[in-house]
Amino acid sequence: MALASAHPGRGTRDCGLTLMPASIISEFMCPCGDNCGKALAVCECGDAAGYVKEIESMQVAGMSAQAIRDKFVARYGPSVLSTPPAHGFGMLAYVAPPASVLLGVVVVIILIRSWRRPARGGSVPAVSAADVKKAEEMLKKWK
Ligand SMILES: [Zn+2]
Repeated sequence: MALASAHPGRGTRDCGLTLMPASIISEFMCPCGDNCGKALAVCECGDAAGYVKEIESMQVAGMSAQAIRDKFVARYGPSVLSTPPAHGFGMLAYVAPPASVLLGVVVVIILIRSWRRPARGGSVPAVSAADVKKAEEMLKKWK
């Protein structure tokens, strides 16, 4: 086999599957009908080995990792990928956590500023001289 001789590090396993970098398999969730919810690399359901073999044979056929991802996403939906794609709706998974932290910080800063800032002029009623005199008389009574 030309591939094996060109890449001495990549032989074949005893089971006959062509040894591939683990990275591409680890990118997939098991899309079996049982909704096992496991990563394809560790799923022991009857279907997982078939998916692994299919991915490996696509790689042997020269398909790029992205082409294989696209093919599986088209067939099983975006949830077949263990990490969401960094674009479109999947981008939310990367943007939402830091954005929500940032939003929280901004809200806290706004709240603190509003508490510290004295009420703006106009909303505070003017204190008349009579009020001051009345307050002073009340204070005198306390002494
Ligand atoms: Zn499974």
